Amino acid sequence: MPDPQELEKTPLVKEIPPKGRDLSEWYQAVCYKAELVSLAPVRGCVVLRPYGFGLWERLQSALDSRFKATGHENAYFPLLIPESLLAREAEHVEGFAPEVAWVTQGGNETLTERLAIRPTSEVVIGVMYAEWLQSYRDLPILINQWANVMRWEKRTRPFLRTLEFLWQEGHTAHATESEAAQEVQQMLEVYREVAEDVVAVPVYKGEKSESERFAGANHTFSIEALMPDGRALQAGTSHELGQNFAKAYEIKFAAEDQTIQYAWTTSWGMSWRMLGALIMVHGDDRGLRIPPAMAPVEAVIVPIVRAGSDDVVAAARELFATLKAAGLRVKLDERDLRPGNKFADWEMRGVPLRIELGAKDIEVGVVTLVRRDKEKGEEGGKLAVPLAQTAAKIRELLDEIQANLFAQARTFLESHTLRVTDRAEFLRLCSDRAGMIDIPWCGLASCEAAVKAETSASSRNTRPLEAGGNIRCVACGEPATVRAYFAQSY
Ligand SMILES: [Zn+2]
Repeated sequence: MPDPQELEKTPLVKEIPPKGRDLSEWYQAVCYKAELVSLAPVRGCVVLRPYGFGLWERLQSALDSRFKATGHENAYFPLLIPESLLAREAEHVEGFAPEVAWVTQGGNETLTERLAIRPTSEVVIGVMYAEWLQSYRDLPILINQWANVMRWEKRTRPFLRTLEFLWQEGHTAHATESEAAQEVQQMLEVYREVAEDVVAVPVYKGEKSESERFAGANHTFSIEALMPDGRALQAGTSHELGQNFAKAYEIKFAAEDQTIQYAWTTSWGMSWRMLGALIMVHGDDRGLRIPPAMAPVEAVIVPIVRAGSDDVVAAARELFATLKAAGLRVKLDERDLRPGNKFADWEMRGVPLRIELGAKDIEVGVVTLVRRDKEKGEEGGKLAVPLAQTAAKIRELLDEIQANLFAQARTFLESHTLRVTDRAEFLRLCSDRAGMIDIPWCGLASCEAAVKAETSASSRNTRPLEAGGNIRCVACGEPATVRAYFAQSY
């Protein structure tokens, strides 16, 4: 039993520290103060509060619509996996063993077989696919699951690393290797699109090295984003599992020529970690800045009410109804607070647009729009718009804000992607967390281990080498086989 006095409580955040001083401290303060999460009364877990869940729902719907458009369906599998099943794919179980939580007792009975709380669901889904799959006519199987999983982590941080987290895991089975490989690239591209076009976080797509590969996969591909402190964040992965799981779990089918063949399977996942990237990449000293496509609230109306200004309240309510009818995600803040406090509160929560409406505005038939993506006093940050054109102008501004946040993030990524050819400089930049350090690389596990030991950086992902023979690995001097981004990572 944990000592109840040792349970962590969500710190009361009065003010957030400057983002540039200590990213980690800023990050946690924003997560609590913007009411995305609270610490749970159990170690290493968070409660996703309504505003945080709103963010998750935006990510979910962006992914889910794309999964369905590419022919996938949702299903749900159990949380618990019998130990004997988990043990069948040796590499997989070995990779996950240090992080698995076990159920050993049910009611008053000690279980004869331990049950794993899923760290991922390849195993239980594989067993079911084996049962469902008979003939080549049943292929491909294209299923996604929205679920929670559990990994027993030591150090935890909201969204980036928690014992229990929310994610989706796609699991597919195909008749041929090339079809499975195509699926893996298709879903990796879906992740890139959602990261860049929806979350406004630019990423690099590529293949993971051998030591960074998913346990039990032949090939793992990832999207990698760069955080403001120069650390990379893996934001989505897509795996070619070959026939490894098919052989371990008997996922077989009768082919057209009547021979019995093993299926080729894939899996791919994105978690609420992506929200951690959003927070770190876009936030500033005033709090969150949420890209409009991800914003649970796109615009908030703050009536500037003075005693006896019933007209303002009525006009604000009318505007609220108009904007809602126009399909905007809008909120009317009628709390009994001073406007200045409301401004600060919605800025902290990163709402893309604030709509101010006061008695003077009503007299001349305008509203004042304030953009969250601009600094205070920056040109174009505040503008008066004729009341009748509010909805149209808001749409236009939301598009601009989305594009502006992405452009800012891309400028950062590009200016912190450094191509180097000198070994000493490579190691220094890796140690200094200077960004994504881009080198021709040998791809050898021993080389990667040596770089990691010296600098704490590892390869994030790799891509084919440009033409031009006899290129050497910058890290060790062996022949280069790929280009790789190296960075320290979350
Ligand atoms: Zn090397």
